Amino acid sequence: MRSGGLALALLLLGGATQAATLIHAGRVIDGVSAAAKNNQTVVVDAGKIVAIEPGYREPAAGDRVIDLRQGTLLPGLFDMHVHLTSEHSKHSEIDDYKLNEADVAIDGVVYAERTLLAGFTTVRDLGDEYRASIPLRNAINSGKVPGPRIVAAGKSIASTGGHADPTNGWARKFQADPGPEDGVINSVEDARKAVRQRYKDGSDTIKITATGGVLSIAKNGSNPQMTEEEIHAVVMTARDYGFKVAAHAHGAEGIKRAVRGGVDTIEHGTFMDDECIKLMKERGTFYVSTISAGEWVFRQAQDPDYFSPLVRPKALQVGPQIQATFTKAYKAGVKILFGTDTGVSKHGDNAHEFKLMVDGGMPPMEAIRAATSAPAKFLDLDDKVGSISVGKLGELVGVPGNPLEDITVMERVVFVMKDNTVYKAP
Ligand SMILES: [Zn+2]
Repeated sequence: MRSGGLALALLLLGGATQAATLIHAGRVIDGVSAAAKNNQTVVVDAGKIVAIEPGYREPAAGDRVIDLRQGTLLPGLFDMHVHLTSEHSKHSEIDDYKLNEADVAIDGVVYAERTLLAGFTTVRDLGDEYRASIPLRNAINSGKVPGPRIVAAGKSIASTGGHADPTNGWARKFQADPGPEDGVINSVEDARKAVRQRYKDGSDTIKITATGGVLSIAKNGSNPQMTEEEIHAVVMTARDYGFKVAAHAHGAEGIKRAVRGGVDTIEHGTFMDDECIKLMKERGTFYVSTISAGEWVFRQAQDPDYFSPLVRPKALQVGPQIQATFTKAYKAGVKILFGTDTGVSKHGDNAHEFKLMVDGGMPPMEAIRAATSAPAKFLDLDDKVGSISVGKLGELVGVPGNPLEDITVMERVVFVMKDNTVYKAP
């Protein structure tokens, strides 16, 4: 359902009665306030929120009414860790040899729409193939395809044999020795060049893999894979271009090097110890916990044939640990942003992370803030999105019932609005 064209047509006709969208919301969670407000009308006109009023305003001629009186209206959601151009399956390892750029690009279009319809209007894409998240971002921004706003890292940066070395597991006859352009660094010089290449590629942010990871075809899922000097060189170069840096890190030593090296977010953080927590609090480093990915790999690993023999033991070990780490980090006061690593788990299931966060001890309202106003501020987008207030963009999501009582309603989004377009209506 795309009403953007119609709204634009009405605007061009110069009519005094331009159609607004009136959302009658039984409850509004605005992304910043401590409490929800009941029985509100939120008015969106020409893509912006122009009024928030108590009660249900009567529509003027031509206005569209969204009846969410049985539900809750929230700001469009943020997922700070996705991979929009892929989705893991039993065939992923062999697909790597078979897929071309166009396959990956088309998959990205499908997954982007699925993500938007699940209520996620902004995502950070932390690593793709063929830099496909960048043209996808551009196509969404220009209105060619529906999808969330993408803050794109492009190709992740790793070291040789490291978690994001794209040639892991290849037979030696392929003679693969990728360098900074393909996201593989082995020195401070390489680190600088890799960041500058991402600037040239059109990336918005930088992703490094500071330790081993679960799904790479490699034995170790948590060892440090970059020196602190290399990480620091990435971070210092990134600053020259206005990039923030996200570090994939499971093991404690790699987490510490990344935090001391100056990264902005730690992704997964699985084997975070007390010293990691202390350092992150001192430095103000954010934690993007991706409990969904841990749960998903653990579940798949119950099938002895799902993963390759190198991957399965890592999945069994990392899975349950992330939930425990989340609880520990939250209680200790580490700053947490909502992120799922979707693309490991299925696109469109992103909101399941809310339940895992609440199960991990975070109150529902805080989990919602970690997916709205907090990431908007982190990404310097809080002048436009991340909360429901007059003047912000009309990027809005509706769920049935009350997420403060049952957080799983976040998994059943019934209303999505972005770009002055209603993509899903109750
Ligand atoms: Zn990831």
